[in-house]
Amino acid sequence: MPEVVNRFLKYVKIDTQSQPDVEDRYPSTEKQKDLCKILVSELKELGMEAEMDHYGYVFGTLPSNSDKDVPTIGLLAHVDTSSDAPGANVNPQITVYRGGDLTLGNGIIIHENDNPELKNFVGKEIITSDGSTLLGADDKAGIAEIMTAVHYLLDHPEIKHGTVKIGFTPDEETGNGTKYFDVKKFGAKFAYTVDGGGMGEIENETFNASSATFKIEGIGVHPGTAKGKMVNAIRILSEVIAMIPQATAPETTEGREGYLHVHNVKGAVDGAEAKLLIRDFTKEGMENKKYFLSKVRDLLEERWPKAKIVLEIKDSYSNMVEVLSQYPGVVDHAMEATKLAGIEPKLALIRGGTDGSRLCFEGLPTPNIYTGGFNFHGVREWIPIFAMEKAVDTIVNVIKLWHDKS
Ligand SMILES: [Zn+2]
Repeated sequence: MPEVVNRFLKYVKIDTQSQPDVEDRYPSTEKQKDLCKILVSELKELGMEAEMDHYGYVFGTLPSNSDKDVPTIGLLAHVDTSSDAPGANVNPQITVYRGGDLTLGNGIIIHENDNPELKNFVGKEIITSDGSTLLGADDKAGIAEIMTAVHYLLDHPEIKHGTVKIGFTPDEETGNGTKYFDVKKFGAKFAYTVDGGGMGEIENETFNASSATFKIEGIGVHPGTAKGKMVNAIRILSEVIAMIPQATAPETTEGREGYLHVHNVKGAVDGAEAKLLIRDFTKEGMENKKYFLSKVRDLLEERWPKAKIVLEIKDSYSNMVEVLSQYPGVVDHAMEATKLAGIEPKLALIRGGTDGSRLCFEGLPTPNIYTGGFNFHGVREWIPIFAMEKAVDTIVNVIKLWHDKS
């Protein structure tokens, strides 16, 4: 087996599932550090400096082997796996794909029709779980690919490179991957997360994201004597929801389209509340959606003068292309590195956020490189060995390109 596969099979057997909505400790689950500790000792075995801090962040350094002045490049992946599917006792399976549906056992089938990319890997080896758990390619494939690439660079001193910083982070799946990430201590000028999907995809865009809350204050009166007095907040809130167009909901949009998503409501006669997500790839689209919500509030205020209607909007993160477009070399080098690995590169967008998008706005421009995996966060996760090897080549190439083009 290639090194990247041996590493991957080792890492996926370590349960590192994180837990959402944990406020009082970091990382959200202590067991994530089990893998972090192994990674520290593996980096040291390779002859690199490495350490884990008390949050679980693993930082390692591959020193420059060149006299040239080359910017320090970071490589990042996350150790935790999603809580959307079982993550303990992962039993990886390697199958030579012969076409058609892929049966995993435990009644789980990866259907050819739902996975059009499968046809690109006929005759090649694919790694899956046994159907009872997720696989953990998100993002242990990224870790295995970075470790293998770094090992390759150490074994090939004839490939000249600048300083490379390695970072393995906890709690990405809970949205807190960069919560205590010290950009300054990490010390990279530019970085790449290796946390993407299908072979050849370089992700340079995320949503702009805000959240909105409609708070309706009604007037509660005994229903027997309520005529002309009661103002039912539930009725007003249902009008708010009815005004949110169905054509701009997550279930009716894709690709570059944004959405308004009502995801939580609660209420009684005297008070009701709805929570929404606002998502768009452009600033203008965000402003339009926010303006639309303010019009909904204005209209209902007119219709219900005795109620109190409050709209609160909070920005959460921004499209990282805003930052990355100022440093075109970062994405260009990743595209060229993919091409040099013999794979057609493709720019892709993320209908969500990433650790990279937050790092971009903290001063560390960080696009996302493919791992090669599909169907993340579920029992139907799969990853071709061929794609993992190409990801390793891409990482080696990108480090080399930063040296050669500096
Ligand atoms: Zn991930």
